[in-house]
Amino acid sequence: MNGFIDGHCHISASEFDKDFGEVIRKAKKAGVEGIVAVTEFKEDFEKVLSLSDQYPGFIFPSLGIHPVQVLEDIIPNYNDQVNGQRAACLSDLEGVLDLVVKHANKLVAVGEIGLDFTPWYCKSKEQRDEQRQVFIQQIQLAKRLDLPVNVHSRSAGRPTVNLLKEQGATKVLLHAFDGKPSVAMQGVECGFYFSVPPSIIRSEQKQRLVAKIPLENLLLETDAPALGPEKEGRNEPSNITISCEWIAKIKNITTDEVKRQTRLNALTLFPKLSAFLKR
Ligand SMILES: [Zn+2]
Repeated sequence: MNGFIDGHCHISASEFDKDFGEVIRKAKKAGVEGIVAVTEFKEDFEKVLSLSDQYPGFIFPSLGIHPVQVLEDIIPNYNDQVNGQRAACLSDLEGVLDLVVKHANKLVAVGEIGLDFTPWYCKSKEQRDEQRQVFIQQIQLAKRLDLPVNVHSRSAGRPTVNLLKEQGATKVLLHAFDGKPSVAMQGVECGFYFSVPPSIIRSEQKQRLVAKIPLENLLLETDAPALGPEKEGRNEPSNITISCEWIAKIKNITTDEVKRQTRLNALTLFPKLSAFLKR
């Protein structure tokens, strides 16, 4: 089957606990062939690994920690957190790199890692610098393990592309990129890939990005349960068809062409997928 590859999905999210089997059935029915399952916190690792054991050849783990972490205890009036969220710091990495190394043979990528300079998480230069260090250590580990990186960037498009270049990362997926097309094109020049979520339906910025980025550098993703076609409500892997349809519409090509090329791009970026995918 030549289907859709969801290049970035939070399939281990608790939002899917109740009807997980149904979500997967629906995804397969919509033509999804494989899901790259990213993590945000060290606590997610085990669940993602166990889901990938339960769905071999369909759920592919990508481990790493997100630039926004949660406070263990929500401290009232604490300045550096919003709803218990805060910028990642070096202590969050404790044990993370060892776990990535331990499971490296099962992984198709390292991520979700990146930079998030949304002002309410990341207020000071010190916080941004520490977030950078957390990102750099995970990039360097991915390079040592010869794995691609699955990258988040928010309000940090240019710093993220620059840092990836500086660190010599070459196998890169920038998911739901929120920067300018001109910054994205600097990534394209380095051979980076960009994945497009179903929220493109309501985002002019993403539509402009897709118009500019060549099809050869695009992947499909859902980022489910986030970034769905509607702002509220749960996104699902089956919505990947929306990303495909919108790319086809904007580029004035067929959905089959988008499906074929984005699948090829995904297999090029995540070479282990081709070996693992069920034939
Ligand atoms: Zn994500």
